[in-house]
Amino acid sequence: MQKIKIKKPKSRRTWTVSPVTRVKESGKVYERKGKHPRKEGEEELLYTKYLRNEDDYKYCPRCSSELVKKTIDHNLRKVCPVCKFVLYRNPSPASGIIIEKEGEILLVRRKFNPYMGDWSLPAGFIEYGESPESCALRETKEETNLEVKLSSLFKVYSGSDDPRTRAILIVYLGKIVGGEPLPGDDASEVKFFSKENIPSNIAFQSHRQALRDYLSALKS
Ligand SMILES: [Zn+2]
Repeated sequence: MQKIKIKKPKSRRTWTVSPVTRVKESGKVYERKGKHPRKEGEEELLYTKYLRNEDDYKYCPRCSSELVKKTIDHNLRKVCPVCKFVLYRNPSPASGIIIEKEGEILLVRRKFNPYMGDWSLPAGFIEYGESPESCALRETKEETNLEVKLSSLFKVYSGSDDPRTRAILIVYLGKIVGGEPLPGDDASEVKFFSKENIPSNIAFQSHRQALRDYLSALKS
């Protein structure tokens, strides 16, 4: 009788933390190498690809059925075949303020990723039910401890280099009316910079552009 040989299965490699999670948590910026260096406005964290990929929403948030792809309003979207929920993806609105005092511009240093350690305008995402104006004032108070009065709307920018979401940044101009600068919330430092010495590591393309636009508006 022929002996049947049973092959021992190869041991499978298992992860305690998936490679995707590891990349996400590292917050590491992966530069594009070779012929096509990273261009302004094209910055992307590797994991942004995962977040932007609609495949990361598999199930209906309303009834838990598996979502299917369907063209709705000229775009391929994920929809629920059971309850007809449509997964619309929109940019998240944020607002911030350019605050000038005695010729210097107020910036905050980011305490957390993305772009931890880089500088930005005091700004943040608008809460549901909150106006852009009150968001800008709230974020400024949280991050800098300063009471600010808005003087005007400056400009509106779109941002694609925040790994968490696509964003729309509404930028106001404002003046300090009270308080002492003190970092709080997600800011590790609060500092005034002269226009000649704006740091090169400004987080987010939209913040860089806002500062550039503001400085060039002052010149002209
Ligand atoms: Zn559903």
